[in-house]
Amino acid sequence: MKKRNEKSQISMMKLLFQDRKRSVVFLIFTLAVAIVAPFKSYIMQWLVDSGDLNRALLSLGRGLIVVLLSHVTEYVSRQTFVGMSTKAVEEIRCRIMRRQASQSMEEYLEGNTGTVLSSLTNDIRVIYDELYTSIFNLCFWGGMLVVSYIMLISISPVVALTSILMCVSVIMVPRIVAKQVSEARAAYSADISSYTGRVNDLLRGFETLTASGSMRYFLTAHEDAAASNREKEHTLRHNMNTASILMSLAVWGPNMVMLFICVILVFQGQITIGYLITVNSLLNYVISPCRSVADAFMKLKSSRSVREKLEGMMEEKETSQDGEEELTAVEKVELSDVKFTYPKAAKETLHGVKLQLLKGQKMALVGMSGSGKSTIIRLLYRYYGGYEGHVRVNGREAGDYTRESYYSHVALIPQTPFIFNDTIYNNLCLYREYSKAQVERAVKLSGLEEYVASLPDGLETVLTENGRNLSGGQAQRVAIARALIRGCGLLLVDEATSSLDVETTDQIMRNLVGLDCAVIVITHDIFGDYMKDFDRIVYLENGEVSEAGTFGELLELNGGFAQLYQLMAGQEEQAG
Ligand code: ADP
Ligand code: MG
Repeated sequence: MKKRNEKSQISMMKLLFQDRKRSVVFLIFTLAVAIVAPFKSYIMQWLVDSGDLNRALLSLGRGLIVVLLSHVTEYVSRQTFVGMSTKAVEEIRCRIMRRQASQSMEEYLEGNTGTVLSSLTNDIRVIYDELYTSIFNLCFWGGMLVVSYIMLISISPVVALTSILMCVSVIMVPRIVAKQVSEARAAYSADISSYTGRVNDLLRGFETLTASGSMRYFLTAHEDAAASNREKEHTLRHNMNTASILMSLAVWGPNMVMLFICVILVFQGQITIGYLITVNSLLNYVISPCRSVADAFMKLKSSRSVREKLEGMMEEKETSQDGEEELTAVEKVELSDVKFTYPKAAKETLHGVKLQLLKGQKMALVGMSGSGKSTIIRLLYRYYGGYEGHVRVNGREAGDYTRESYYSHVALIPQTPFIFNDTIYNNLCLYREYSKAQVERAVKLSGLEEYVASLPDGLETVLTENGRNLSGGQAQRVAIARALIRGCGLLLVDEATSSLDVETTDQIMRNLVGLDCAVIVITHDIFGDYMKDFDRIVYLENGEVSEAGTFGELLELNGGFAQLYQLMAGQEEQAG
């Protein structure tokens, strides 16, 4: 435990001091303030003990130089540190996001975006305000403390010795309270994560909750989360206040004793009144730094939980989960005896699925809801790796290929597309370069042409958060265009036309079947003429392939598919 702690501390410190030049400037100027600032305590003594006007003026000049120097050096020290710490915070954020980018789809689905969001905002504040600021305080006030001590010793060793007492008591307090503060901080950090996740969920569900008259839930659910957060924050602040007051007491007690000793030294004629003033002033340079150093120690310890949490989120993965093969083209796709159970699920979802698709072939997956169609698509799109049997592309396991090469040849049109708060153009290209012809072709094939033409800003129209200014059908067409624009060897389509009218569905399905790549389409719309164009229709029942063949063959078989067809035909007639 101890070892890991040291490791994480070094790593965060490394980030802070990674810019060598800045670090050296910071250390030099901080040392300079530490030496110059305590001299301000002597100014009064220089003036009081100067004796005549000329020497008083000289002392004043000396005083001015000390004041000016101490402020200039402090300014440079503080500014340099701000540069170092903001850079380190940026680096932590980027490292956390790099780690996020390298996670597998499965890890992403298991994780919680609220936690990441909260770490990048709240936890990172703790690192800046507590860890880095404490390191600054340790250097800045610590240096001053040492120099002031040396000065005190030169004036009166007795006083300096007594003030050691003060240091001991001040250092003991953080040891006693830091653990409580650290625990309270960990509880607060965990709670703010779940608070962020909860609020995110509520805000995204606003439309659903309003429509179902559940706005009371919107408020009460938030009130519960806010109350829990208040409680955690209250405990944290309470512990911090206790620590702060205890530290102040630990400083002031011995300080009174020291002043008393000084007064006695004046009575005995061992020091002048001028020196008494200097000692009193120097004590301020001991008290303030002592408090700050003790406070910094406490914060350094109490921020440990957060530091370790962020360290874990920054750690580079030792073993890359990515494959090493390069996929250059899709020749053959094959699932053999695939059995799969979702992580944490009680029941197996796929019970030995077999299917095969060659270059350029078209396949439709049909089946009742819950029969495992989307699961097959998810395995082909490498959402999950923990299956039995084989999911192979060109005879190799899908996971053997590098993510980059795999996804540049395999594309997915999901059922509920994600729309970025950006222009239609960027939503289609997803920040990659395509030619004008490629964009136009995708817009046409996805049936977006008419809609885009009706917009004054065309492809430059900005889509609002989560595509709120799009209809469900338009959002689906954006997702279709997004996949088509890339051009690929295997296109996976999960009910991408479920929000579209019959005519548009017909058009898009014909476009999909007409593509020159291999296509696997999950569809409920089994009435269109396009069904006859599929090389193979696979009918799934309870996680197993129960029938497979062309449209004509399946109807002739008069099994599950034919029954579903007749059932839906009956419903169509009734509706019609
Ligand atoms: P379909 O697309 O055919 O409607 P799915 O493949 O989505 O069906 O789901 C098949 C089964 O797997 C369902 O019983 C569903 O409840 C279950 N399932 C789907 N996703 C998950 C998941 N993430 N975790 C656990 N079970 C899941
Ligand atoms: Mg599905």
